[in-house]
Amino acid sequence: MDDLLSGALSRLDEAARYIDVDQEVLEKLRYPKETLSVRLSVRMDDGSSRSFPAWRCRYDDTRGPTKGGIRFHPNSSMEEVATLAFWMTFKCAVMNLPYGGGKGAVKVDVHDLSKSELERLSRAYVHAFAGMIGPDRDIPAPDVYTNSMIMGWMADEYSSIVRQPSPAVITGKPLALGGSLGRDDATARGGYYLIKHLETDLGLDKTQKRVVIQGYGNAGFHIARLLHADGYRIIGVSDSRGAIVCEDGLDPHAVQAVKAQKGSVTAYANGRARMVSDNEMLALDCDLLVPAALEDQIHEGNAGSIKAKVVLELANGPVTPKADLLLQGNGITVLPDILANAGGVTVSYFEWVQNRQGYYWHLEEIHERLRTIMETEGRRVWDIHTAKATPMRTAAYVHALERLSNAIAAHGTQSFFAG
Ligand code: NAD
Repeated sequence: MDDLLSGALSRLDEAARYIDVDQEVLEKLRYPKETLSVRLSVRMDDGSSRSFPAWRCRYDDTRGPTKGGIRFHPNSSMEEVATLAFWMTFKCAVMNLPYGGGKGAVKVDVHDLSKSELERLSRAYVHAFAGMIGPDRDIPAPDVYTNSMIMGWMADEYSSIVRQPSPAVITGKPLALGGSLGRDDATARGGYYLIKHLETDLGLDKTQKRVVIQGYGNAGFHIARLLHADGYRIIGVSDSRGAIVCEDGLDPHAVQAVKAQKGSVTAYANGRARMVSDNEMLALDCDLLVPAALEDQIHEGNAGSIKAKVVLELANGPVTPKADLLLQGNGITVLPDILANAGGVTVSYFEWVQNRQGYYWHLEEIHERLRTIMETEGRRVWDIHTAKATPMRTAAYVHALERLSNAIAAHGTQSFFAG
């Protein structure tokens, strides 16, 4: 997992080649500001006690309070949390949100827990990190295997600790507890607005618009639904249990209904689609590939077989640096995570603003504000990509690094003080 962080830092070094950045800025962005590691003790339904490793990292807060999700996953580690927090730092800067980057995780397999055990674990997390999080300090949100119900418990726990309603401490809450309209599909919708805005630049308008999606959770299902409604053809989808393919096109709602009932997209196959391995699905002849599961899914071993024209990274870090070079060599454009999946944190920002104002916006307003930000920042990144002849990922990092660098320099660097 150290490789994950060094891979992430290599993107920073790459971006720094294109702009004039003070060495102090790069030094500051190389290490997390603060990481807390704890063990959470949770009482199980059978009366026993279990303890789970948990972390929260505030990577950099130069541009504002840190912001980032909480992941519940058996493979989580402190390094993964730091890497995800690093990505959040750059993501918030790309989108010009007044936030730094943070992240949290618990090493746990949620499938092993009952609903009440999950609630106790979620509340224990807030109890342990109550001094670190806060509406003006560090604002968590959902991530893999955490959802609005869990955010609701966490906001409630925090409010009882500080003895006042404090909805702005966490985003991605249920609507009834101060959540925002439009948060449920925001990550996919942001990616969808980006694709639509750049459709002609990417040459997607002249293709058969065949889409393959890896991961069929929140991000994967909603991008399938939005693209399908727009005339794209979803020819392959997968989840942790396997992949299904149908060249004539899958109906995303029908697949989702089966997954909700039977636990996996593979149950949909049943004569309507064929089952393949995840790597076979990734290698399908398609126009748009959407990794929407976990990091490191497209690597040296399978990147060479990918035939998509465009990759839309809804997952965080799904393409390794080595795979990036292979995709680039094959003329595949990658729309990078820190831009492509930033719709989620953008609507989380809207939720935080609404909580602080105590005034709630209607859905159309949220969609329009999201669309404007995705198009504005997407266009800026595209312009850097063409002007500097860099991959879109480097262009996004350059864009973010300029903003971070300006903010860090405004606090004072050696050259600043040397006059
Ligand atoms: P989720 O838990 O709702 O869904 C994850 C999906 O991936 C599930 O269908 C799971 O079965 C599948 N999966 C897991 N391992 C897989 C594998 N090896 N192969 C294929 N499928 C696999 O999570 P989500 O919220 O949709 O998040 C997915 C990704 O998007 C993560 O990388 C997350 O960090 C990123 N992301 C999510 C949001 C958000 O708002 N939900 C925002 C930004 C980024």
